[in-house]
Amino acid sequence: MKKNILVVHTGGTISMFEDSETGAVKPGNENPLSTQTKGLNNLANLIIKEPFNLPSPHITMQEMLQLKKIIEDEVNQNKIEGVVITHGTDTLEETAYFLDLTIDLKIPIVVTGAMRSSNEIGSDGLYNLITSIRVAACDDAKGKGVLVVLNDEIHTAENVTKTHASNVSTFQSPQYGPIGIITKQGVFFHNTPTHKEKYDIDQISKRVALLKAHAGMDSLLFHSILDLQYDGIVIEALGQGNMPPDTVEGIKSLIEANIPTIIVSRCFNGIAQDIYGYNGGGKQLKELGAIFSNGLNGQKARIKLLIALSQTNDMKVIEEMFH
Ligand code: ASP
Repeated sequence: MKKNILVVHTGGTISMFEDSETGAVKPGNENPLSTQTKGLNNLANLIIKEPFNLPSPHITMQEMLQLKKIIEDEVNQNKIEGVVITHGTDTLEETAYFLDLTIDLKIPIVVTGAMRSSNEIGSDGLYNLITSIRVAACDDAKGKGVLVVLNDEIHTAENVTKTHASNVSTFQSPQYGPIGIITKQGVFFHNTPTHKEKYDIDQISKRVALLKAHAGMDSLLFHSILDLQYDGIVIEALGQGNMPPDTVEGIKSLIEANIPTIIVSRCFNGIAQDIYGYNGGGKQLKELGAIFSNGLNGQKARIKLLIALSQTNDMKVIEEMFH
């Protein structure tokens, strides 16, 4: 029996075309996926929604919340057995992680995109859409959280990140790898994610900044974060979670003002931890009250802190959420 799969198109390269005269990749008058998807009913009964058509750098928390609501409403009203979201790749991991943390459903939810637009040679959009529908219709994909499917690989929303500006194999899960693959004959999982957390939210109103550390950094930007009245900050610190000594005063003033200050590593692999005892080292930051995040990258820690702040201001509870 064919399954009922909800397909939500949101824009991105997968919905764009290349202008033959200028070479610019951009949205056209019609989303090419709208016509292409009509020919895919042999895979599943597709219910198509197109709430907006945005390049993913235009996506905000509001669109992420809108997607969450669309999925929950559709699943409540119709007999939806799986969901596929098409999305621009630039911020895909943020939307996928947001949905992973906030939607409490057992059905497969898959986010996909493309690196080459609809009329470019080697276009990967339709292919990724087809494999994503196959994963969303697969019983083994149930209960594994939000999945990201591109280039014949299945990744978790928590671990996946965009690693290459233009290559079609851009989506990788550093340190962990994909949890499954797709071949012509099947969908195969070789890992099951064990870590599950869900937060019930219906609005995001706080502001969280994301700053990357560098050699010779000082406290000026940290003071501005306070002046600009941000509600929280994520710092992509050096190595295992260390900062240049001149930033310590600025970071201290943020923590003293009760601004949750999350430390992640700017390294591509590994986890930030309080290891070093010198001025600016992780031990000092932790003693000041900085919260070390458990392996998330900066952009995902920011999404998580926004969700945390929509529920609580209690620093202890926020710290627990990052463990
Ligand atoms: N800039 C595009 C976007 O994120 C890239 C893509 O979709 O691959 O919308």
